[in-house]
Amino acid sequence: MIVMKFGGTSVADFEAITRTIFIIGSKLDQKPIVVVSALSKVTDLLYRIADSAASKDTVQTGELLSELRARHTGLTCELLAQSPMLKEDAVQRVNEICDGLDQLAYAVCAVGELSDRNKAIIISNGEILSSTIICFAMNAKGIRTNFIDARKMMITNDSYLKGEPLTEEISVRVPDMVTAAFAGMDAVITQGFIASDLDGEQTVLGRGGSDYSASLIGMAVDAQRIEIWTDVDGVRTADPRKVKNTRYLEKISFEEAAEMAHFGAKVLHPLTIEPAVRKNIPIYVLNSMNPSGKGTAILRNELIEDGVKSVSFKENIRVINIFSMKMINTSGFLRRVFEIFSENKVSVDLISTSEANISVTVDASEKVERLVEQLSEFADVIVDDDKAQVSVIGKNIVRLNGMLKKTFAPLKRTNVYMISQGASFVNISFVVDREELSEVVQDLHDHLFENPEELEVF
Ligand code: ADP
Ligand code: ASP
Ligand code: MG
Repeated sequence: MIVMKFGGTSVADFEAITRTIFIIGSKLDQKPIVVVSALSKVTDLLYRIADSAASKDTVQTGELLSELRARHTGLTCELLAQSPMLKEDAVQRVNEICDGLDQLAYAVCAVGELSDRNKAIIISNGEILSSTIICFAMNAKGIRTNFIDARKMMITNDSYLKGEPLTEEISVRVPDMVTAAFAGMDAVITQGFIASDLDGEQTVLGRGGSDYSASLIGMAVDAQRIEIWTDVDGVRTADPRKVKNTRYLEKISFEEAAEMAHFGAKVLHPLTIEPAVRKNIPIYVLNSMNPSGKGTAILRNELIEDGVKSVSFKENIRVINIFSMKMINTSGFLRRVFEIFSENKVSVDLISTSEANISVTVDASEKVERLVEQLSEFADVIVDDDKAQVSVIGKNIVRLNGMLKKTFAPLKRTNVYMISQGASFVNISFVVDREELSEVVQDLHDHLFENPEELEVF
């Protein structure tokens, strides 16, 4: 079996879905489990519906709901134009899903209150709609395809908007459901991103979570490979939307990919690598608009050469500076600080400490108000919102001769804060002023990738 995950742009419209079905059709001998995201921009639209309903704006909510319905019914009619019977069933199904969503959104409008539980239900509709439509379209093209509701097999804890997968439960449920669904079939299709808790309540894995779903499913069925189909020719040395002259990477290690994703490369959800590593399953990042390309292979460490692979960055971070004179000579201070981070479930990226100060960076999406209040009870806390984080990533770079000099040489006129290197051998990270980020990243990328062969390993 293989897992093939198609992101939003790969299922954006009639042309994209037709290409995607063609790609799947060429791999039926490998028993594809297809995992799809919502159509491009639909999850954003669902968030807007949730917000608009929460603010009791019935008119706007109605308009957004109509936009969502029209896009999906229109696409269904286009894809199934040659199969009138299937078209009728599919349009009916799409309308039923949209009716359910309308009801919930108007109920939220009426009370003007949106729980995380209801928000998870609202935003999960994108994947339910896309997978339903694509399942019909695959069958119409002669690919016998069975539909699996991911909420019956992807089980998380009860954190509705950022469910943490219960991997043992998933490993038990997925293989049985997938095997049963393949009986007499060429392919199965399911949703990325969406899941449920042990009580059957809807949860989601967090933004961009479909990659993670694909990897968890791959792990559970011991897939031969996990394919992440997206809109770029594989993983590149930096985000090609933000940096000029990026290079394509033919292969990188699990560890390099995990660090890149964790430190800002949006091409993969940060947690995608971990389930694949457990079973040593290769991941391929491929371009659905150029299916004959080789893509990037993400493989085990031993198969990958040392050297700089990427400049990744996080534009939206917070630096939390914690000052306390009491810190001097007190051994329990750090423990107390990090217990508060742990209680509030806020995860920390970089840390630097001095005699009476600790600075940490966290993702801007983390909720820190309560944490700051608790820290302020025994320390002075300053939160800095105008910084960004840059990471140079590559196998064993920390051991490369001249690497630090090469990293910081192009940044002569930049203020650099919180340098971190050596915590892992693959990552050198630091913080800069956000207004300088674009220039820093471009200069650094130019400098590191112009003559990478100059860097030697000890
Ligand atoms: P999908 O909808 O298929 O999940 P995403 O938009 O989540 O696609 O991820 C693909 C995007 O990731 C690319 O269009 C690219 O802009 C961005 N990206 C960020 N960093 C990198 C990188 N190092 N290599 C390739 N793409 C990257
Ligand atoms: N549709 C979800 C999102 O936009 C999940 C995904 O695309 O991976 O975040
Ligand atoms: Mg994505």
